Amino acid sequence: MSFDVQALRAEFPILSDQVHGKPLVYLDTGASSQKPECVIEAMSQYYRHQHANVHRGIHQLSQTATDAYEATRDKVAQWIGANRREEVIFTRGTTESINLIAQTWGRTQVRAGDRLLVSELEHHANLVPWQMLAQSTGAELVKIPLLPDGTLDLNVYEAELARGAKLLAITEVSNALGTILPLADMIPKAKAAGAVVVVDGAQAVPHHRVNLAEMGADFYVFSGHKMYGPTGIGVLWGRFDLLDSLPPWQGGGDMIEHVTFEASTYNTLPYRLEAGTPAIAEGIGLGAALDWLNSIDFDAAVAHEHEVFDYARQQLKQIPGLRLIGEADEAAGAISFAIEGMAASDLGTLLDHQGIAVRTGHHCAMPALQAMGVNGTTRASFGLYNSRDDVDALIRGLNVARDILA
Ligand code: PLP
Repeated sequence: MSFDVQALRAEFPILSDQVHGKPLVYLDTGASSQKPECVIEAMSQYYRHQHANVHRGIHQLSQTATDAYEATRDKVAQWIGANRREEVIFTRGTTESINLIAQTWGRTQVRAGDRLLVSELEHHANLVPWQMLAQSTGAELVKIPLLPDGTLDLNVYEAELARGAKLLAITEVSNALGTILPLADMIPKAKAAGAVVVVDGAQAVPHHRVNLAEMGADFYVFSGHKMYGPTGIGVLWGRFDLLDSLPPWQGGGDMIEHVTFEASTYNTLPYRLEAGTPAIAEGIGLGAALDWLNSIDFDAAVAHEHEVFDYARQQLKQIPGLRLIGEADEAAGAISFAIEGMAASDLGTLLDHQGIAVRTGHHCAMPALQAMGVNGTTRASFGLYNSRDDVDALIRGLNVARDILA
C-alpha cells in the first residue's frame, strides 16, 4: 500500500510517548483523536503572537485573530460541502449543537403529539435532548430499534415514518458499534414524510468524506476533537433558511444588532446563534486540523484505516471466547467486543498496563448496549494513524489479559 502510515504517525508527538513504561498503542480515537503537531503549533502561535478578542476590536491584533478564526468557517464549509459559510455555526461540540437545535427549532416547532423518531443506536447526546424536548412539549419519542447484528430495523423505520414524523434524529456512524447507517436510503424517505432530519456526524467526519449537498439532511453536527482538532469547538451546520428561521438561543454579546434597556434586535447568521466570546484558539486549531486533512492524501489514509479496521475485526474473531458486539457489514471506526467470563473494566485495566488505550463501559450509548444484551463492552477505535502493528499489540495484550484472568 502506498500510504505511509509511519510518516503520518511522526506528525503526532504523543504517539511516540510511553504509558506505564510501554510504547503507547492508542485505540481510543472514537472518544477523542490525537492532534498533529501543526494543530498544537497553531494554537500556541495564536496565544504567543495573535491573541485578542474577535469581532470587536479595531486594533491590528483583534483583526488578525478575527481573520484566523473566521477562516476556519470557510474551511469547514468547504470540507463538508456547505453552500454558504453562514450555515456553519460554531458550538462547543456535537452535544451543544444538538441541544441548540432541540432548544430553538424544537421549542418553537414541536407540539404535543408530534412524533420524534430517534434510533436506538444513538449516543446519549442525540437522545437525551430529544427526551427532554418530548417531556416539555408532550411530543412522542419513537424508537427505531436495533437488530441483533447492530443494524437498524428498517422495516420498523418505514412503518413508523408512515405514521408521521416531525423529526428524524440519527447518527451517521455509531460510536458504540461502528455501524454505518444507510442514510442515502433513509433520509429521502424521512424528507418525503415531512420530517426534519438531524444527523449526528461526530463519528463520520473523521472516517470518510461528507457531502452535505448530496446528503439532504437539514442539520448536521460534529466535534472538532474527534477529527484531529482541539476540544471545545464543534459545528452545527443547518440549511440556511431553516437556521435563519430559528429564534436566538443564548443572549449576550455578538448575537445582537442593537440593544436598548427594554429590548434587542438580533444579528444575522452565523453570529445570531453564537453569543459571547467564542473558543478562539480552538477555532484556529480546528482550522489547522482541516488544513492538515487537506494536506494529506485523505482518501488513501481512509482506505488505510479501513484496511486496519477489517484486519482488526478478523484478528479479534480468532480469540477464543471473544464475541463481537455489532457485526454490520458497513462499519467504521469502532469495534466493540466482549470476552466470555471477563469484565470489560478488568480487560481495559490490564490492557492499559501494557500501554494499550481502549475504552470500556457503555460508551454513552446505554440503550444500544441494552438492545445488544450487554451492559458494557471493550471498544477499540481507530484513526488514520493506526496500523496493523497496533492491532497485533492489541491481540497480544488481550492474550496476556486472558492468561492473567483465566
Ligand atoms: N455523538 C457521537 C456519535 C459521539 O461519538 C459523541 C462522542 O463520543 C458525541 C455525539 C458527543 O460528542 P461531544 O462529547 O464532543 O459533544
